[in-house]
Amino acid sequence: MIDLRSDTLTRPTAGMRQAMAGAEVGDDVYAEDPGLNALQQRVAGLLGHEAGLFTPSGSMANLLGIWALVQPGQEVVCDVRAHIARAEMGAHAALHGITMRTWDSADGLTDAATIGALITPDAGPYLVSTAAVSIENTHNFGGGTVWPMHDLLQISALCRDAGVGLHLDGARLWNAHVATRVPLAEYGRLFDTVSVCFSKGLGAPVGSMLVGSAQVIERARVQRKRLGGGMRQAGILAAAADYALDHQLDRLEDDYLAARAFASALAETAPWAIDVSTGPQTNIVVLDTGARAAVEVVAEARAAGVLLTAVGPRTARAVTHLDVTRDECAAAGRIAGEVLSRS
Ligand SMILES: *Cc1c(COP(=O)(O)O)cnc(C)c1O
Repeated sequence: MIDLRSDTLTRPTAGMRQAMAGAEVGDDVYAEDPGLNALQQRVAGLLGHEAGLFTPSGSMANLLGIWALVQPGQEVVCDVRAHIARAEMGAHAALHGITMRTWDSADGLTDAATIGALITPDAGPYLVSTAAVSIENTHNFGGGTVWPMHDLLQISALCRDAGVGLHLDGARLWNAHVATRVPLAEYGRLFDTVSVCFSKGLGAPVGSMLVGSAQVIERARVQRKRLGGGMRQAGILAAAADYALDHQLDRLEDDYLAARAFASALAETAPWAIDVSTGPQTNIVVLDTGARAAVEVVAEARAAGVLLTAVGPRTARAVTHLDVTRDECAAAGRIAGEVLSRS
């Protein structure tokens, strides 16, 4: 089986396990885990922010980041396919009383003019006020797309001028950074809060982080405990994240090359399923299943030895990662292409 369902499937490497086994630990609810404290400083610094807070999942990092910017009864504006809108089980509404409005797009990206026309800061007594905008970079269901820097600069200025908060769901910001070589802090500084995941392409088994101002992170620490996200000897996980940043960040380039190999092999038999002139930009390939239901295509690909995910009625997703080789991805692309060209 060539498993391309997600880059969350990666298992810790031997070196990572060794680093975890040797971690010095303390109780992080008392803020006494030395490795975790150092990791929070390290990642905040990398992203150009004052402070960081380790979380068990990226969903919790997003939940806390948006909570810090939006009051109950206010809204966050995001893309129609955003992870916060589709994949976090309504948590922002269910737990924090936050509503969402979305812009439509095919690839998860938009421009400052669209966001400017959508937001309603201080909307008064009859309409919902927009308190934050959330951007996802890279964009997962948009096909691993990378935001152009000039759009981010304009959106950041727009939100600052409007007094609207700006959150970055940077679960795969690492992949955007490796694709563009834009320094992480140059991205980070444009946002009030940023979430990142260590458990995706970086290959750590567990863990994400929220960064922001010292004040935001102090408040988020209390809310994390309230949500049951206070962990104890989490330095074992911090050691995995540190190891990932030291040894498994630059190799995200390999995942991009593997995604290209998958896409070109697929395009040879089913050229209509993917536009290889525009993508993939990183490690995610979203393919159009044409006249066939995505779930059917996914089931037939599984029978032929390739695991994909249906992400829409007529769209399926392949994600490359640490535990699959470029040759395996090319083979998977050929198999997926054959399945797609059956009528
Ligand atoms: C995976 C992911 C997250 C976080 O997911 P968890 O499974 O909660 O860690 C957040 N945003 C995006 C875009 C993701 O792909």
